[in-house]
Amino acid sequence: MRKIKKLLPFLCAFCLGFTAFVPVGCNDADNADSGDKDNGTSYTLNFSDKIKNVILLIGDGMGENHIGNAVTYFGLESPAFFADRNGSIATCSASHPITDSAAAATALATGKKVNNRNIARYDGNDLTQISDLAKAAGKKVGVVTTDHLSGATPAAFSGNADDRGDSDAIAATQAISGIGLFMAEAESGFTDYEAYYPLFAANGYACAKSETELLGKADEEKLVAYLPEVRSEYNAGNEEDYQLKEMAKFAVEFLENENGFFLMIESAHIDKYSHSNKLSSALCEVRSLFDTVEYLYDYVADGETALLITADHETGALSKAANATDISNALYGSTGHTANDVPFFIKNCEFTYHEASSPQNTVVFEICKELLGI
Ligand SMILES: [Zn+2]
Repeated sequence: MRKIKKLLPFLCAFCLGFTAFVPVGCNDADNADSGDKDNGTSYTLNFSDKIKNVILLIGDGMGENHIGNAVTYFGLESPAFFADRNGSIATCSASHPITDSAAAATALATGKKVNNRNIARYDGNDLTQISDLAKAAGKKVGVVTTDHLSGATPAAFSGNADDRGDSDAIAATQAISGIGLFMAEAESGFTDYEAYYPLFAANGYACAKSETELLGKADEEKLVAYLPEVRSEYNAGNEEDYQLKEMAKFAVEFLENENGFFLMIESAHIDKYSHSNKLSSALCEVRSLFDTVEYLYDYVADGETALLITADHETGALSKAANATDISNALYGSTGHTANDVPFFIKNCEFTYHEASSPQNTVVFEICKELLGI
């Protein structure tokens, strides 16, 4: 076992109770380059030297009450991974107390706080991503999402852009990223792959547009796959869809190699359904995430892979239902994101944070880096 103790950078006054002293949405640009400062906070990591792979599973918009209500709604025993809870993570961005997915995913992927809408870029400069570091160390990298590939979360782990809406810039940087595996969802009528597949193909990627094509390309060196629909089977009508856990299974088998890998997996629709206050649909997506974790717990049982599970932010100001009959859309308090801390779990690594407050989301990047030895 190794022990590592580090100082964490300080950035976000919003999250430290100073909100009343700064105008909402104000931005202290000097603080945004979070690597320049530290506030003396620290943590300890304990993990085996056997660890060579890291999987980061992100439930977009998945707050405390999303997971609690999913357990209640489906009458589940507490999933096994609840035992590996490691507190919560604070989520503010450099520009706002309430983050968007672009800034939150950038913090997870780069260890830097940026402004809302920035994709792994701050003040015109590209930020180094965990995927860059993993590749440089000879590891394979995978980015898997149930969102579009140019969605903010996958983009922050694989591309760079000043604005999350600049899909052309995101795709252009993803195509030259050298990342081994991209998997995403193509909603009905979605045509991004028609525009961007030639870019990827020109950079040596095999391309798949269906589950059948995907399974036939498992031995390719670099692969990009847009799958027609990836929605929870617990939502009526989606039983035949490709599922998150199937994406996860394909990805780990694709990436496995003796040097190890880094894999980001995002469940995107928890956020999307929560924006429209469709609670049962959101909870079905959470249950599919539970299934994915159950599969991944089997996968990591050999002790070579650390698994981190968290969210980028909470969506919908969701309350907790006392019992299943109380589950209704009325539990939502908003249709937007909130500043709530989000749950954090780690398997095959002990993380101890030595402060009373929650660590900032940038710590996830630091932990991934340490686990991968890079
Ligand atoms: Zn959202």
